[in-house]
Amino acid sequence: MPELTATVIIPAGGQGTRLGGERPKQYQPLAGRPVLAWTLERFIACPQIGRIVLVLRPEDMDYCRQHVLAGLAAATIGPMVAGGEQRWASVLAGLQATKEEEDIILVHDAVRPFVSGQVIADVVEGVCQYGAAVAAVPVKDTIKQALDGQVVQTPLRDQLWSAQTPQGFRRQLLLEAFVRRPQDRPITDEAQLVEALGHPVHLVQGDYRNLKITTPEDMEWAAWHAAREETAVPERLSRTGQGYDVHRLVPGRPLILGGIEIPHDRGLAGHSDADVLTHAVIDALLGALGAGDIGRLFPDTDARYKGISSLVLLGEVVSRLVAKSARIIHVDAVVMAQKPKLAPYIETMSRCLAQVLGVNPNRVSLKATTTEGLGFVGREEGIAAQAVAQVIY
Ligand code: MG
Repeated sequence: MPELTATVIIPAGGQGTRLGGERPKQYQPLAGRPVLAWTLERFIACPQIGRIVLVLRPEDMDYCRQHVLAGLAAATIGPMVAGGEQRWASVLAGLQATKEEEDIILVHDAVRPFVSGQVIADVVEGVCQYGAAVAAVPVKDTIKQALDGQVVQTPLRDQLWSAQTPQGFRRQLLLEAFVRRPQDRPITDEAQLVEALGHPVHLVQGDYRNLKITTPEDMEWAAWHAAREETAVPERLSRTGQGYDVHRLVPGRPLILGGIEIPHDRGLAGHSDADVLTHAVIDALLGALGAGDIGRLFPDTDARYKGISSLVLLGEVVSRLVAKSARIIHVDAVVMAQKPKLAPYIETMSRCLAQVLGVNPNRVSLKATTTEGLGFVGREEGIAAQAVAQVIY
């Protein structure tokens, strides 16, 4: 578990049916899943969240279990807590269901389904540093304070922020804030209770997409955004693989390295053409794909691969890369051979490999070295090769 672990309370007892439909808006579907499921998924996926306390109206619990929680990997969701009529009372009920050792408490609206992991992490971090932290975004419109349809004043916009959730607090601070809550005004967020204690509340950069679904227009945008997220291509990652191979030098075989035949009095023994360099490159590519190794893909017990050119095997690996829309960034390999001298063939070998890989030859770097007469390579018993490959997919 990460060092900073927070508990999030999600009050989901709202009865708002302004959007139409029989169920409150937290149960309305977004791209086929209830709004609340989207919200919970964000916190389930967040490494900073140790536990989720879901506060519901008792009469909604069965429905929620069947229609929201059933589809989630919900190990972090604790027992549901029965909530009060008002939002603040639900948060308090959730807070009372936490334990003393749950030192960092976040509160999040059930109907803010697009909160990012970054915003959650930043609020947790803010609580650690300042004791109270709130996600917020700068106000875009000019705000008018009005009474009976008449503007009373225009506050300076550059001092105005829209408070979002999550809002986070040290548990003890939030408990105290509830005990001493002001009785003379409606409570629309938890931060104002902490402010009323005179404790500073730190603002954390929120996100305009962290929208609170309130009106039918919000729901329209949320449905569009959810559909877009569902079909989005996941971020492509760069991965590195390594390969290493050794073959024995024997008389009566041609010496094939990097797909070309190199004049020598002996060649490499093996089931295929024993191209040790190409084998190392294959293993590096398979490693980057997380797809096993050459022995698993092309077993030497399979007669189809007897005497086969290793370039054909490399071509098959390239088809796998293509199937995954993977792109080769770079391959770097070194051949360890005492003899023959390989320098004159390096360029031809890299062109040959680059052609099969379908990349510019400047993406294939080859080197050769002796081992100063040491070891099996030095005694000319065999040739070894090592490769790394970087692939994006
Ligand atoms: Mg091999």
